[in-house]
Amino acid sequence: MKFRGGYNILQQGRPSPVVERLPEPKELYLPLRSWRFLFNEICVEDGQQVNAGDVIAKDLNNFALPLLAPRSGTVKLKTAANHVVLADMFPPDKKVHVPEKHLPHIVQEMGAAGIKRYKLLSLGAWQFFHDAYTGKLPDPLSTPQAVIVSTLSLEPFLARGDAQLHNRLLQFTRGLEHLQSLLEYQPIYLIMPNIKSPFASQVREHIRGYAWAKLIQVPLKYPYDNFNILARALGLKKTAGPIWSVRAEGILAVDRALTVSKPCLVRIISIGGPVVSSPIHLKVMAGYPIQIILDKYVTEPYIRTLDGGLLTGNTVSKEILGLSTESRGLTVVSEPKEREFIGFTRPGWDRRSYSKCFLSALRTDFPERLTTSMRGELRPCISCNFCEEVCPARIMPHLLHKYLYRDLIEEVEQTRLDLCIECGLCSFVCPSKIELRSEFIEAKKLIEKEKEEIRQDQARQQVQEKSE
Ligand code: SF4
Ligand code: SF4
Repeated sequence: MKFRGGYNILQQGRPSPVVERLPEPKELYLPLRSWRFLFNEICVEDGQQVNAGDVIAKDLNNFALPLLAPRSGTVKLKTAANHVVLADMFPPDKKVHVPEKHLPHIVQEMGAAGIKRYKLLSLGAWQFFHDAYTGKLPDPLSTPQAVIVSTLSLEPFLARGDAQLHNRLLQFTRGLEHLQSLLEYQPIYLIMPNIKSPFASQVREHIRGYAWAKLIQVPLKYPYDNFNILARALGLKKTAGPIWSVRAEGILAVDRALTVSKPCLVRIISIGGPVVSSPIHLKVMAGYPIQIILDKYVTEPYIRTLDGGLLTGNTVSKEILGLSTESRGLTVVSEPKEREFIGFTRPGWDRRSYSKCFLSALRTDFPERLTTSMRGELRPCISCNFCEEVCPARIMPHLLHKYLYRDLIEEVEQTRLDLCIECGLCSFVCPSKIELRSEFIEAKKLIEKEKEEIRQDQARQQVQEKSE
């Protein structure tokens, strides 16, 4: 496998693999929006009692993916905007959630494999699946050309694969077997860390003898765990059909759904970053109040919290009260409120820089204590080429930036903006502090919107021509 670019960011606050279980909260705040999903059909009423595993809402644009109640309790729909709140909770009952009698006819026609796929969807395991190229939720009834299973998580400070799989390798291999039973001859590529790590040896030991699983070792460099990059490196073509991609936690959810017919209601997330008192992993359920987690692990008053990793995480606004169903980790950095006094005169002994222009280049590897501070003003591009060096998508971010600045959309498309995986490395290394990643995300949205408008215009014209 050939990779290009990539860069490991060494920052303080890497979570240890220890997993701590948080106490049951009084209320859960389930956001109706997550990274990919918008639960736009509420299936419960205000004041209704629900059991753990009951469907609270569905995302009608994503194969009616359900939002499941993580605990039994009373539904409150008016307490917090864009959230379903669960109050008066009581411990989860032992009820096994088997929805087979409600199977849609199409699933029954597909036989055992159809029933299994429907179970994955209705028991919350399907939400862990992505299409490698689009990042979207694949159709559970589709036939993939291949499956990529990753045990890696390389973006600081997302939940680590070894923390997810600790003491659960048996469930993981059983989940892989279940997944294989949904396929015909398509390969499962199992992405593993460097062979020399003890974790890699354990995984290899467990899947010894699975001819259908192809072990792929990947260097531990961000973002080589990205499904899009992996699919390209494996030579899988975008046009040859969907590529199901799933991380270790998804395989554990598959095992739970298909071995014991139980929904996946808790997950392991990380809490990391320079201001976290003890960076660690947490076993929590969706809707867990974010403030309770911050109160326990963060002591600084001025912070910025990201839902996700240091490079791609979204800022958690005040309106978001609980963990979403897709949260993989919280990253917390300090947000200074005052300007650094004559900061430019500091020699940079404690500052990391890709350019190695600070005094810190003389130090051996040390984790920096990153803040949200810009450390200087925005500058024009100085054509240093750092962004191109680190870009794993083999495109030229500086050129894209220049084309976008001049509104040259055709040239932007020719420079293959579509290949950008939004990893954020270009923004991170840019000495001019240009927000390349956000620029590219906005530009992609704009181009897609314009293309959609053209498609709609053409469709309208065709209808008009036919009627004439
Ligand atoms: S965000 Fe896009 S352009 Fe920037 S380094 Fe990543 S893939 Fe390359
Ligand atoms: S890293 Fe920044 S300054 Fe350097 S070439 Fe890229 S956009 Fe320009």
